[in-house]
Amino acid sequence: MVNTGELIDRFRGLFPGTEPVWTVRAPGRVNLIGEHTDYNDGFVLPMAMSQALHVAAGPAADDLIAVHSTAYGQTVSFPAADPGPPGEPFWSNYPRGVAEMLRREGVRPRPGRLLIHSEVPLGGGVSSSAALEVGCALAMLALAGQSLDPVRLAMLARRAEHEYAGSPCGIMDQFICVLGRAGHALLLDCRTQTFEHVPLPLADRELLVVNTQVRHELGSSEYPVRQRQCRAGLEHIRRIHPEVRSLRDVTPAMLKAVQRDMDELTFDRCWHVVTEIERTRRAAEALREGDLPEFGRLMYGSHFSLSGKYGVSCPELDAVVEIARGVPGVDGARMTGGGFGGCAIVLAHREAEPALRAALARDYDRRFAHPALVYATRAADGASVARL
Ligand code: ADP
Ligand code: MG
Repeated sequence: MVNTGELIDRFRGLFPGTEPVWTVRAPGRVNLIGEHTDYNDGFVLPMAMSQALHVAAGPAADDLIAVHSTAYGQTVSFPAADPGPPGEPFWSNYPRGVAEMLRREGVRPRPGRLLIHSEVPLGGGVSSSAALEVGCALAMLALAGQSLDPVRLAMLARRAEHEYAGSPCGIMDQFICVLGRAGHALLLDCRTQTFEHVPLPLADRELLVVNTQVRHELGSSEYPVRQRQCRAGLEHIRRIHPEVRSLRDVTPAMLKAVQRDMDELTFDRCWHVVTEIERTRRAAEALREGDLPEFGRLMYGSHFSLSGKYGVSCPELDAVVEIARGVPGVDGARMTGGGFGGCAIVLAHREAEPALRAALARDYDRRFAHPALVYATRAADGASVARL
C-alpha cells in the first residue's frame, strides 16, 4: 500500500508553495474471464485490484494543470482552460485528454498540481491506463468542486483513451476501475453496458497475478486483424442468419453449421469468441454457486482457447499456465488482458502459493530472460477520492 504521508511529502518537494488537498485511489483490474469478447458485444468478468494508482492533488495560483508521474520522473503541464491536442511525452496524453473531455462535458478544470504514483504495472494488461485516466479525472473533478456519475465518468475516461492515446479500447477497463466492489467481480454486458456485481467467494483461495514482464510488439498489429477476422466470420453466419448482429448472437451450433463455408483460421477465431462468451456466463454462475473448482476449469478452457484458437498468447504466458497446472492446489490459470505478454492469473489454495513460486523459479525464470513476478491481489472497491 502507498503511504499517504510519503505521498504528501513528495508532493510538497515537487511543488513548493502548493498544498495537497485531495488524494485519489484508482485501482488496476484483472479480467477473470471473457477475453476478446468486448468488441464482439459479449460479456467480461473483471474485478478491481487491491493494487492502485494514487494521486495527490492541490489547487494552484497560476492557470496551469501540472502533473508529475513517479513512473517517468517527469512533470508535464498544460493550460487548465485549454488542454490542447495530443502531444509528447506520450503519457501526458492521458491527463491532457481527460482534462479536455471534462471541459467538453461542461466541467471547467481548475489549475492545480497532481502527483501520480502507481502500483499498477505499466503495459502489463492490468489496465494502468484506465487507472491513470480515472485517477486524473477524479482529481480534476475534486479540484473543480464537482462530481460525475460513475458511468459518465467511465465513458469520459474511455473517450480520452480513444482520442488522446489512440487506443480503440472497449468499455471494460474504465467501468471496472470506477464500479469495482470489494469482494466482488463485475459481470459486464458489453452490448447493453449493463452490469451486475457477482460475489467472489475466495475463502481459502487466493488470486495471484504473474507478470511475465514481456510485451511482444505483435500485439498492436494483431488486434485489428482479430477484429477483421471476427467480422469476416460474422458475414458468413449472416448469410444464413441475417438477424445476427454480432458474434454475441451466435451459438456454437450455428457456427458449426457454417464451418464448411469459412477457412479454418476464421472458424477458430469465431469459435474462441462464441465459446468464451459462454464460458464467461458459466463462470459467473459458478461464482454464484461458490463452485471455485468449476471456475478454475473455465479459466483453463479460456486460456487454451485464447492460445490455440485465437492466437493471442505467447510462450511466456503458456509456460506460466502449464507450470501452474502442475502445482497441486491450483484450481485454474489463464492469461489476462489482450495477450502477447503481460500478466497471467492463477486461482489457487492459499497453501499452494509457495509451491507455485518455487515451480516458477525452477521452470520459468531459468528459461526466459525476465523472471516472473508473482503477487497476490484481492477484489477491491472502485476509485475513490478523499479530502486530506
Ligand atoms: P495497460 O493499461 O495494460 O497497463 P496500456 O498500454 O493501455 O497498458 O497503458 C500503458 C500506458 O499508460 C503507459 O505506456 C503510459 O503511457 C500510461 N501510464 C500508465 N500508468 C502510468 C503512470 N503511473 N504514469 C504515467 N503514465 C502511465
Ligand atoms: Mg490500457
